[in-house]
Amino acid sequence: MRSQGRPTDCGTAMHRQAKTCRTGSTPFLALLQAVKTCTLCSTMGGRGGILHVLGRRARRAVMFVGEAPGRRGAVRTGIPFQGDSTGHNFEILLESAGWSRRDVWVTNAVLCWPGSRTGTNRKPHALEISNCQAHLRNQIEIVQPVVVVPLGASALRALDSICPARFAELKTAVAQPQSWNGRYLFPLYHPSPRVTNTRRSLEQQRADFSLLRAFVLGKTATGRGRVRP
Ligand code: SF4
Repeated sequence: MRSQGRPTDCGTAMHRQAKTCRTGSTPFLALLQAVKTCTLCSTMGGRGGILHVLGRRARRAVMFVGEAPGRRGAVRTGIPFQGDSTGHNFEILLESAGWSRRDVWVTNAVLCWPGSRTGTNRKPHALEISNCQAHLRNQIEIVQPVVVVPLGASALRALDSICPARFAELKTAVAQPQSWNGRYLFPLYHPSPRVTNTRRSLEQQRADFSLLRAFVLGKTATGRGRVRP
């Protein structure tokens, strides 16, 4: 494990914001409204971005960032990483680390569904990731995570564009905590079956989540995913 050092700061106001944010507070409601009505992406605007939070408080110690909502998952359930086989794998991994969805914040680099012309999932384009960067940035400001966990290369690239990461290539960055923008980045692989079957098995990812859990334990006062207000 490489030295994590002191978290770097990209000069944003993120970690200097209000100490507590409730999901009924103005910044959170403004974000919800902005995401719901956003039309920045020509092929996705108007679909309504998917943002889901459980609990009264927005603040969490751990924020997971995936790639985009999936047709059979978040698009159907309205909850990121829920309802399809990727969501099933994610829930197995989350549970293996001793966390529930209430303990963590789960989002995506792109908040609308990037569907292909034939109605299947497709990877978001670089421009779409760049368009959605402001929403991701806002979520980080509101949630104030201690550890941000990009799940897959798209999420890592999105976060790297907000503030440069020390390792921006997933194969070298995986499970290597690094200081990032006043917080820590803990890059992991995406839990989709395509990835677990070819690149990093569910067992390997379970081991990665165990490392993540230990890292969060060392960095938060409560040892839980939740931040004590
Ligand atoms: S993906 Fe993000 S930037 Fe693009 S339209 Fe949806 S909410 Fe807006």
